[in-house]
Amino acid sequence: MPSPLIATIEAGGTKMVAALASGPDDIRARERIPTTIPEETIPALISFLKSAIANHGQPDALVIGTFGPADITPTSPAYGHITATPKPTWENTNLLGPIQEALGVPSLFDTDVNAALFGEARWGAAAGLKNTGYFTIGTGIGGAVMIDGKLIHGMGHTEMGHMRIARHPDDSFKGHCPFHQDCLEGLAAGPAIEARWGKPAQELPADHPAWEIEADALAQACLNLLTIAPPERIILGGGVMHQSQLFPMVRKRLKELLNGYLAHPLLQGDLTNFIVPPSLGDNAGLLGCVALGHHLLTS
Ligand code: ADP
Ligand code: ZN
Repeated sequence: MPSPLIATIEAGGTKMVAALASGPDDIRARERIPTTIPEETIPALISFLKSAIANHGQPDALVIGTFGPADITPTSPAYGHITATPKPTWENTNLLGPIQEALGVPSLFDTDVNAALFGEARWGAAAGLKNTGYFTIGTGIGGAVMIDGKLIHGMGHTEMGHMRIARHPDDSFKGHCPFHQDCLEGLAAGPAIEARWGKPAQELPADHPAWEIEADALAQACLNLLTIAPPERIILGGGVMHQSQLFPMVRKRLKELLNGYLAHPLLQGDLTNFIVPPSLGDNAGLLGCVALGHHLLTS
């Protein structure tokens, strides 16, 4: 039996990617739509999906993986809305409602990072694992946790980017989070690196002291996750992780922080298989939504 066809939207603050797909080998249509104002972007998404459906077939479900904060609790009156975002014009926007109404199929609304982890666990860097974690380190820091094959939602979605961590002893930067200053995101997201060093993260050389501080922050985040919801693997993605020298640095620092505690076999050696990059690349969000759609239809 062919896999169900899913209409997907990866909703980002800069762009949205809409697609019609049933899996990595069957992406039938895909379009990038700029995130301008809801009155423009939402009709453009509907119009693309409707024409893709006319050409490629009726989807069995609609899944949106969105930037946050967003209401992803199905029983909540504001389910499907982007909530308190600082992104102009998008605050309290019903993103799911009009699109679901236009398509008339079962739907699911979750965060972009939850979708990315779900996709990586099905087809990518965490394939076959049931307990996994994901941090995306970009303009902000987002996190996702899967336990026993299920994404953790709690009363909303995880906000692991805002966990407290200890400042690196060599660091005097006050932090960049408008709510908490020196939380993980305030110390380690791309804009924090830029504010601390006076130039964009991508312009700092691989041997710059910035990366020691960054690796320390990310290793602490991984340690905190390990102590709360022990994953078999942690994926680190997002623009900042294009600095591939960070991977061995985070693994080494995590090893130091663990200091021999948690003697699990997966935490032996140099952690090469424990801290890993994502493997689905540009299709991570899209395929994550497809995987969530399949799960929706079978659960
Ligand atoms: P978004 O957060 O919008 O999804 P990204 O994940 O690309 O987008 O994150 C953007 C942030 O990542 C910016 O702060 C940027 O400075 C940083 N960044 C992007 N590319 C790199 C790179 N090659 N090296 C280090 N930092 C990067
Ligand atoms: Zn914060």
